Amino acid sequence: MKIAKLATAESAHETASSPKAVTQQNGSGHMLNPLQKNGVDNGKHIGKLNGKVNILLVDDRKDKLLALNAILTPLGQNLVEAHSGKEALRLLLKNEFAVILMDVSMPTMDGFETAALIRKRPSSEHTPIIFVTSIGNSPNQMYQGYSLGAVDYILTPIVPEVLRAKVGVFVELWRKTEHIKQQAERLREVEEAEHRRRLAEAEDKLETETKRNRFFTLALDLLGIGDFDGHLLQVNPAWEKVLGFTEEELRGVTPDQLVHPQDLAMIVERVQMLKNGLPVEYFELRCRHKDGSYRWIGWTAAPFPAEKLIYIFGRNVTARKEAEEKILHLNGELEKRIAALTEVNRELETFNYSISHDLRAPLRSMSGFAQALMDGEASRLGAQEADYVRRIANSARRMDTLLQDLLEYSRVARASMPPASVNLDGVITEIVSLREREIEQSKARIEVRSPLGSVSAHSPTVQQILANLIDNGMKFVVKDQQPHISIWTETVTADGHAANGDNAPRPPSPAIRIWVEDNGIGIEKEFHEKIFGLFERLHPSHAFPGTGLGLAIVRKGVERMGGRVGLESQPEHGSRFWVELPVDAAQKPTDKLPD
Ligand code: ADP
Repeated sequence: MKIAKLATAESAHETASSPKAVTQQNGSGHMLNPLQKNGVDNGKHIGKLNGKVNILLVDDRKDKLLALNAILTPLGQNLVEAHSGKEALRLLLKNEFAVILMDVSMPTMDGFETAALIRKRPSSEHTPIIFVTSIGNSPNQMYQGYSLGAVDYILTPIVPEVLRAKVGVFVELWRKTEHIKQQAERLREVEEAEHRRRLAEAEDKLETETKRNRFFTLALDLLGIGDFDGHLLQVNPAWEKVLGFTEEELRGVTPDQLVHPQDLAMIVERVQMLKNGLPVEYFELRCRHKDGSYRWIGWTAAPFPAEKLIYIFGRNVTARKEAEEKILHLNGELEKRIAALTEVNRELETFNYSISHDLRAPLRSMSGFAQALMDGEASRLGAQEADYVRRIANSARRMDTLLQDLLEYSRVARASMPPASVNLDGVITEIVSLREREIEQSKARIEVRSPLGSVSAHSPTVQQILANLIDNGMKFVVKDQQPHISIWTETVTADGHAANGDNAPRPPSPAIRIWVEDNGIGIEKEFHEKIFGLFERLHPSHAFPGTGLGLAIVRKGVERMGGRVGLESQPEHGSRFWVELPVDAAQKPTDKLPD
């Protein structure tokens, strides 16, 4: 049998702070008691380290101790010996025992005295004591023993089975008590962990809530919660900033108290939708400010049917709404002015037409009489008079050209232009044949890259436009240079861009772009827009005759047919004018479209 050497009052001091020492004492290093904190034994649980409980055997006689040991060894517990009452007390200071077997008659301090002292100590006041006494002791002595807390008596000679059975009961009792203690401790630990978890959860919730609240209070937008009857329950400070009402004033307020009467139906309908759990799209309405004025608020809202609550988000859009209203008003004004200007324009064009028309009659008679003078009276006129008459005739001719151009411009501006299919090859052939003489005189080369395709337009106007461009191409060349004019077309791609990468906006319908390129004097970039204006000319009449109306007629005609016009040109590098017109949708599939 191996008897554990327990810590006495002195040696326990070392073991208390040294788990290694305890391990050595118990011969086992791996069965730590669950109650030990950090694996440090406080010195009171020697027996528990190997799952055994401590039994204290107190007797001054070694032979008796040996006998007790022999009897109790089969129990398999730690049997600890004390040779005196004093030693027993010392051991009890640092160790816990399931039961004490105490010899009654010991020198110096007998069993009863020792028991009395053991009972006085709180740590051992409930430790069961079995007195071992000889059969000859008086019953008085036994009563004394009981009064000192003895739980039993064992009389010598000892019957081993009886002693083992009695001690075994106390060992079991100790184990069960320990087990209950451990369970209670574990329960406490579990409860503590649960409590800590709940505390941490509550803290987290509080923090999240605080942050959310911060969002709520700091948001510039109007945030609020309402019930299914449309009452406001909670609002953030933005409401007061925007509408002037405090949160208290707004609490319990219904839409009809806040919303513009004209917008009330809208809000009632939205609340009904939210009540039915339907999502509500963004909407805008007017809300009353405390000062009686109104603010435009853009709203979104989400229902939470389970809570019967509506979460509301609003943004003050008054500034944008007012700007929009101003723009709408200005647009209205603008439209009115455009209408007035169009009317004035129309009147001017009528005036222009009638003036041009009416002026031509006296002009024709001026021109006729001058011609008659030159033809019939030439011999009777002096050189100077003849020169005057010729100048009159020339001026009359120039003026007539101007009036003709003005009339043409008026026609293009006013005439109705029902679109029809216009075959561009036919138009160009017609133009060229009408200019045979000029082409021959100037030795111009006209190159047409057929087929040109068909456009949906007004045929006479298309002819007028292309004739003006071709005439200009033949006219604006360096003196004695042979004009070279190329004409071709291209389709405009579906995404609205022409093959040359031009990005200007155009009508969405497909179009044909007609190019008229010359090898003439070219035009500075800064004048590319200006030359389309009325009477805009870049050269004096003596250098290049003209009225400054040709390109104005081109632009007007193109615009009236729903097309566009433009050019690419550089001085001394010729010009490329282009005209875009809607493609003829009825064009036969067999007709080859230009690239
Ligand atoms: P006009 O030909 O009667 O002068 P337009 O309105 O046809 O009037 O042209 C306006 C001006 O644009 C012309 O005076 C000329 O300066 C310039 N211009 C027009 N077409 C060309 C061209 N093909 N090459 C160079 N300059 C041109």
